[in-house]
Amino acid sequence: MTIMVMLSEDSNFRKGNNNEFQLSTIAQDMSMLCVKEARDDNLRSLIARKKLHLVLDLDHTLLHTVTLNELTPSDRECLRHRSRRNWLKEGKLFMIKDNFLVKPRPNVHTFLKEASTMFDLSVFTLGTKGYATKAVEILDPNGLYISPSNVFSVEDCKRPMIKGLDVMNLNERVSLIVDDIKRVWVDHPKNVIEIEPYLFFEVKSNSKRTNMKHAGLQMGGDESEKYGELARVLRELKKIHIAFFDNTEASQVGYENRDVRDVVEDVRNNFRLLK
Ligand SMILES: [Mg+2]
Repeated sequence: MTIMVMLSEDSNFRKGNNNEFQLSTIAQDMSMLCVKEARDDNLRSLIARKKLHLVLDLDHTLLHTVTLNELTPSDRECLRHRSRRNWLKEGKLFMIKDNFLVKPRPNVHTFLKEASTMFDLSVFTLGTKGYATKAVEILDPNGLYISPSNVFSVEDCKRPMIKGLDVMNLNERVSLIVDDIKRVWVDHPKNVIEIEPYLFFEVKSNSKRTNMKHAGLQMGGDESEKYGELARVLRELKKIHIAFFDNTEASQVGYENRDVRDVVEDVRNNFRLLK
């Protein structure tokens, strides 16, 4: 009913003589309305369950992956050491398609478990769908936290190498993003909580990013579970979730008009004041 009323009021619908133009305009309008309704439904469903939505990047955020070709001689030597040579069997390292060596970030399972009590979770990676599916199976082997339909990859990007909440039919007022690269979210910078990149393996490239952090494997120590980046981000997410739903005015009139981007700003300002 809503769709019919809005279409009949659209000037393009009435004035055009070109049937093809009219049909394509109608199709676009209907598509936009369906997307808006899906986003609004998602918002209402989240609010009713006192949840928000969290979109997670994969590479350097939840794990570090290298291809076997990228593995440096020093890292190969490290992995041959008797204390590490069984890491694949012990479930500390994983292989995808006999070519990708995957190291999950310390604390990632606790992070997903606790985050899932406050957020519906999605993954958005600029890797391929095949890689994303396998990586999520490693991180969430029992499929408890991330539904396969909530896994988005480079094939889903509407613009090359740009991620967007629109692809996922998410309302930006109730969605947060955790990513080590903010610039790929060109339309949603205020929704992003940046995380320091996780670099376990040494990387051969000359990228500046690889100079920012030492590689855990050769330094003989991985990131701390308790004091590492995922633990820090989880604490920030908890504060934001509490601040979003702990609001006297909104609890009386409804949370539908709250905007998580304002809450992120408030939480950060309060933290600065406390410092
Ligand atoms: Mg990344």
